Amino acid sequence: MTQFKTLDDLTDIAGKRLLVRIDLNVPVQDGEVSDTTRIERVVPTIRDLSSKGGKVILLSHFGRPKGQVVDSMSLEPISHKLEEALDQRVHFCQDCVGDTAVRSVHEMVDGDVVLLENLRFYPGEEKNDTEFARRLAENGDIYINDAFSAAHRAHASTEGLAHLLPAYAGRTMQAELAALEKGLDNPARPVVAIVGGAKVSTKLDLLMNLVSKVDALVIGGGMANTFLAARGTDVGKSLCEHDLADTAKKIMIEAASNKCALVLPVDAVVAREFKAGAESQTVAVDAVPSDAMILDVGPDTVSAINEWIGRASTLVWNGPVGAFEIKPFDAATMAIATFAAEQTEDGLLISVAGGGDTVAALNQAGCTNKFTYVSLAGGAFLEWMEGKPLPGVEALSA
Ligand code: ADP
Ligand code: MG
Repeated sequence: MTQFKTLDDLTDIAGKRLLVRIDLNVPVQDGEVSDTTRIERVVPTIRDLSSKGGKVILLSHFGRPKGQVVDSMSLEPISHKLEEALDQRVHFCQDCVGDTAVRSVHEMVDGDVVLLENLRFYPGEEKNDTEFARRLAENGDIYINDAFSAAHRAHASTEGLAHLLPAYAGRTMQAELAALEKGLDNPARPVVAIVGGAKVSTKLDLLMNLVSKVDALVIGGGMANTFLAARGTDVGKSLCEHDLADTAKKIMIEAASNKCALVLPVDAVVAREFKAGAESQTVAVDAVPSDAMILDVGPDTVSAINEWIGRASTLVWNGPVGAFEIKPFDAATMAIATFAAEQTEDGLLISVAGGGDTVAALNQAGCTNKFTYVSLAGGAFLEWMEGKPLPGVEALSA
């Protein structure tokens, strides 16, 4: 695990200009922020720094304006949401570099919080351009990165800045890294991983990394069909990447040579159509009708998975095991989430989960707050599960 400095190492910050990279790239629907979780998660860092008299200068991206000013992607409306969450004034500055930004920062008094405009209005951000990073650094004495969810990108504000100013991890970043360390880097064993979702092709690196690290790998969701088919099972009309049969076999061989138990579905819930209220039936995986598709794992598979979870000390989970958006194909994912949450609440399991749809499924099951840690990081979480170094984290230790 990478070593880095945290806010505990940062004393005497009164009057210092603190450039704090956060992730305010929140989902917006019809002009309203539909989920404020990311905003709430950065509150502790901002409060901590501001209460100690630091001048808190917040940096974030929002959307994909591709290096130009796009009014609809301004951070200004988000600054009001942040203000509500913080219960403290947040000054918004119309630019993230240049005279306007310099002036705003110059006017700050100790404890003030300023949010600078969307970093991605400048092409230098995503290009990790040194000159752009220097212009950002002009406004700070210290750099704090609290945006784990952007750490898989080497951008000026996530990577470049760390080389120009003394660099520290914020509280959210620190918590995320500590949770992930418990998940895979230094876990209590046995460790079980569940990987689901639609396709093997999007999760090859992840599967390959996991078979070398965990004691059991459960494969569910659409991607299990590719493994079943590779083994010679007829999966009917199920979503299946037949061209990846050899890859699936390679993963199975790799698992065996690493003494990682590979757990595939033994039964499945199938239907002729993928829509709400479609007639469905439960069959053994070797009895899938040729005109039907597998849309969830069956109850015997759920029992087998929960038995593994019961035996495990650590669970790492990405990807729903069924097409959970449509009932009744959510049943297995809900049952597994509920059991993992119970085990966690009883102190028997460390449970770490992440991924866009996985978080949605855990919310649907009412389990998000019962897991040890649910990462909101999306891409960064997946790259961590793939065992890849994250430039934003690496840079903090440089
Ligand atoms: P995450 O966003 O958590 O990384 P993925 O995007 O990989 O997860 O996978 C989620 C998607 O996988 C969901 O849209 C779900 O409907 C789909 N899925 C799960 N099981 C199946 C299945 N048996 N057939 C088709 N799609 C499935
Ligand atoms: Mg997804």
